[in-house]
Amino acid sequence: MVGSEPADEIRERHREARERARSMGPFRAWIDGERVEASDGATAETRDPVVDEPIASVPACGPEDVDRAVEAAAAGFADEWSEVTPAERSRRLFEWTDVLADHVEELAFLECLDTGKPRADARGEIEGATDTLEYYASVCRSQSGDQIPAREDVHLFTRQEPFGVVGQITPWNFPAWAAAWKLGPALAAGNASVLKPSASSPLSTIRMAELTEGILPDGVVNVVPGAGRDVGQPLTEHPDVAKVSFTGSTAVGRGVMKAAAERVAPVTLELGGKSPFIVFPDADLETAVDAVAAGIFYSTGEICDAFSRALVHEDVLAEFTDRFVERAESYVLGDPLAEDTTMGPLTTRDQFGKVSDYVDAGRREGATLLTGGGPPDDPALADGWYFEPTVFGDVDNDMRIAREEIFGPVQTIIPFGSYEEAIEIANDTDYGLAAGIGTERTSLVHNAAADLEAGLVYVNEYGPILPEAPYGGYKDSGIGRDLGQEALDHYRQTKTVYVNLDDPSL
Ligand code: NDP
Repeated sequence: MVGSEPADEIRERHREARERARSMGPFRAWIDGERVEASDGATAETRDPVVDEPIASVPACGPEDVDRAVEAAAAGFADEWSEVTPAERSRRLFEWTDVLADHVEELAFLECLDTGKPRADARGEIEGATDTLEYYASVCRSQSGDQIPAREDVHLFTRQEPFGVVGQITPWNFPAWAAAWKLGPALAAGNASVLKPSASSPLSTIRMAELTEGILPDGVVNVVPGAGRDVGQPLTEHPDVAKVSFTGSTAVGRGVMKAAAERVAPVTLELGGKSPFIVFPDADLETAVDAVAAGIFYSTGEICDAFSRALVHEDVLAEFTDRFVERAESYVLGDPLAEDTTMGPLTTRDQFGKVSDYVDAGRREGATLLTGGGPPDDPALADGWYFEPTVFGDVDNDMRIAREEIFGPVQTIIPFGSYEEAIEIANDTDYGLAAGIGTERTSLVHNAAADLEAGLVYVNEYGPILPEAPYGGYKDSGIGRDLGQEALDHYRQTKTVYVNLDDPSL
């Protein structure tokens, strides 16, 4: 379904929105507590995916800027942040989240304009980002070490210490939320950060960093926008970056890990996925349709844990498929700034090309296109990177559309006949980020949750993602976890101290 607004109304609203966004700038790198240009003055444009016009010019930083930021972070860590107690770190993080909470609408507006996601979703994600930072502000004070009663004549204990400077790299699909996932645990553990947002959607992250002014010491949060090869790579290779955390594609993640391996720096990787949702024959079909639709169409399918393979039992295949196609056709494609829009455009031209190529591949491989398959037939949306919710039936798990991450609103429906077959198909993938189960039977819930090779299992729903719970993947979907107490552990190293206790007699 398409929205009912005429093209000139959308264009005019976006012209005004881009002007408003520019008035919130200038958007610069944030290094050592200051807005700075790239050392060589280079800039790049971030573009509005609804009308394909430039929003704002942003520094296209390079290796010299990474050096500057790492130096600032090292000084911020050594001069102040490493000396601050967890209670004081907690207080400052709460202060930052209070300021962010006052800027939810502004940040949601930037996120909506920069990524093309519907405004309500952008707002929810900014609230998710502040909630995540609040969680880490809370757990900050609960950090402790162990006392190990191994021998009477030794006082043996552990200290949890920060790494110092950490390098963090985020993707374009959840810019602000991903930044909070990275910064929350890193700062709570006592590190200073150099964060590189995606060049395609850096605005909200830059603004979040600016809002640390006067709250966090200079140099503790640095945001260096620029391309992956110019900023991301030098950051992962930098000798003074003691730990790297990356969210993005598996291909780039492998390179990040190799670079970190050269200097034995620990890495956390949150990578891609091809997540299955299994609809068992007893499932409440309405609930299953809700979960699978949200799982593939939220954020126009540009989600790492997308339920991009719907595995449906033969007994309910026809009914599930009919209902799912109907649901896909009910999404309202339109201007993400309009409140009734439920699906915006893809974020970039490249992504539009990639999704289109996969749909062609699905057709060639013999899958049946049940709905969608290309841009909507609406001249008002012709300038943007819109793609209709797309559903393929008759999909075999060996097809490319079932094996490779499309990162767009494209569902593949794959039938199965038995529990064993469902689990085998679900696990027959290089990835292992998420999996879902639709059933009313407790025994199926627990058996499948144990048998699925995935870092996250959702039962009868898609989401939520809560900061209290670890998030990350098995297999090619990553290493380590974001969120939860576990993420805090990834940003600390353990020091064991032996204190010799001499005979106390004088
Ligand atoms: P990419 O891997 O292309 O990019 C991710 C980030 O890495 C961007 O900031 C990018 O910079 C940067 N980068 C690119 N090349 C290098 C390099 N050589 N060294 C260091 N950094 C580099 O992924 P996308 O941005 O296209 O994001 C989509 C991917 O992210 C999907 O595969 C998705 O599954 C995954 N993802 C995973 C999530 C998870 O939690 N598991 C969450 C969200 C997304 P730039 O783009 O500016 O050049």
